[in-house]
Amino acid sequence: MNGYYAIAIDGPSGAGKSSMAKELAKRFNFIYVDTGAIYRTLGLAALRENIDRKSGEECMKLLPTLEISMGYNDAGEQRMYLNGEDVSGEIRQPEVSVAASDVSSHGDVRKFLLEMQRKMARENNVIMDGRDIGTVVLPDAELKIFLTADDTARADRRLRELEAKGVETSFEDVLKDIRYRDEQDSTRAAAPLKKAEDAVLVDSSELDFNATLDLLCSIVLERLFISEEK
Ligand code: C5P
Repeated sequence: MNGYYAIAIDGPSGAGKSSMAKELAKRFNFIYVDTGAIYRTLGLAALRENIDRKSGEECMKLLPTLEISMGYNDAGEQRMYLNGEDVSGEIRQPEVSVAASDVSSHGDVRKFLLEMQRKMARENNVIMDGRDIGTVVLPDAELKIFLTADDTARADRRLRELEAKGVETSFEDVLKDIRYRDEQDSTRAAAPLKKAEDAVLVDSSELDFNATLDLLCSIVLERLFISEEK
């Protein structure tokens, strides 16, 4: 370890990684790093520039022309910037999810964005969520969790989340989007979504928010043996 703790949470879209990671970060006073937001920012740029996202070459040509950066506001929330513009809200649109999955399938793109993620973990206690955190980004993380749930349970939760944000969509569209990303994220050659061998598997299909959070808190306490911030 480098003097800081790292907790990796991986799993498919809509498993509740980000809401769990945010709560755990508050309780244990870690910084929450949402790595999906980085790929979403690039996905948004690809949409705006109208490039062929399935082409690794096109994505790699675009990357050096962009300035993608990450910051935290006073409330401790992660913000994403594209060429200085705060795009934190816009990257949550459903079409950006699909664009993020497309651009993130290229190995060179992933390599380009790796250092940004590792730097956060060198300088802070982090809870980082994504698809390849335990397997590629932070293989030495002190604790790895693979959080999953049935696709219909995930679609249902994602729909409610999007509705709360005022995004208009339907259960069928959300489920279709989740299945598209599950398939693409877990079958791609570069850093596919998969459970690290030493990750703790948590299936939240039958658990509500509080039950999942309690379970994860007890895993963190047991595995890292650090006391909760009161
Ligand atoms: O986590 P989120 O749903 O915001 O991620 C959007 C997309 O970014 C995912 O579907 C996945 O393709 C990609 N991603 C990734 N590796 C990560 C985080 C996200 O490939 N570590």
